[in-house]
Amino acid sequence: KQLHVHFPVKKGFLQRTQGYVRAVDDVSFTIAKGETFGLVGESGCGKSTTGRAILNLIKPTSGQVLFDQEDLAGMSTAQMRMKRKNMQMVFQDPYASLNPRLTVEEILEEPLKAHQIGDPEERKRKIAEMMEVCGLNRAYLKRYAHEFSGGQRQRICIARALILKPELIVADEPVSALDVSIQSQILNLLQDLQEEFKLTYLFISHDLAVVHHLCNRLGVMYLGRMVEIGAAEKIYENPLHPYTQSLLSAIPAADPRKKKERILLRGEVPSPVNPPQGCAFVTRCPKAMEICKKERPLLIEAAEDHLVACHLFT
Ligand code: SF4
Ligand code: MG
Repeated sequence: KQLHVHFPVKKGFLQRTQGYVRAVDDVSFTIAKGETFGLVGESGCGKSTTGRAILNLIKPTSGQVLFDQEDLAGMSTAQMRMKRKNMQMVFQDPYASLNPRLTVEEILEEPLKAHQIGDPEERKRKIAEMMEVCGLNRAYLKRYAHEFSGGQRQRICIARALILKPELIVADEPVSALDVSIQSQILNLLQDLQEEFKLTYLFISHDLAVVHHLCNRLGVMYLGRMVEIGAAEKIYENPLHPYTQSLLSAIPAADPRKKKERILLRGEVPSPVNPPQGCAFVTRCPKAMEICKKERPLLIEAAEDHLVACHLFT
């Protein structure tokens, strides 16, 4: 709710603060229990920062993160540690996110130990079970992360995220670092796990084709702001924001009879240190008007469960 994450920009010998990067700039949205909410946009738009702020891995500058009515943003580290059991993150790079000095068994035991769950016997059983659920052979338990392929490493990361039986998983580009042939296996695994464990996903991706089959609802971010939110099929069928339209025009149509015109954007993404005064997209928008330079468009409900922030709809 009205989430802001600003990073100071320091310059010079004295490292004086010269300004702030508005990485997340007044973002509000809701994820319903059991759904998959896709957060999309180009790299640098603030989607990863939003995901991390939700899990309190980054302290929000202001705003609330309400999880079952409780505000996580205001919690102490100790309080947050208890909550962390319910919410876990799967990162983009399965190579960087596993400790090379630990065996798979040790990697999966760590979160259980940290939360004082079970005795050694019980933990062994839980670990073996979770390996199986995630499509990993139990015989791998004593192996080290570097002995695995990228896809298997991501399975280990997913198993580690799930071992505490969380409710919410924030998956930040979980398949972007993997070979295309492996991507669908991991996406299928995530879908199966969602059903089995009644998980809620925040699925972050720059690739709208990847999120298409997975997400019930979508949020589109641009330069730290949420520009469109709604039911996924509504946004895919009828994107309202000019930025969403350009993003979607880049994926090939499933139905070849529906010929799509690719909308190419001109211009650069402006610096988030000095964002445009009005609409953040004004420097690249093919439909920009005078008002767009001056006034920031607010998110308004254009149709049921379909919100857009654009002066074309105000
Ligand atoms: Fe384009 Fe104006 Fe809409 Fe922004 S508010 S997306 S500049 S038409
Ligand atoms: Mg990112």
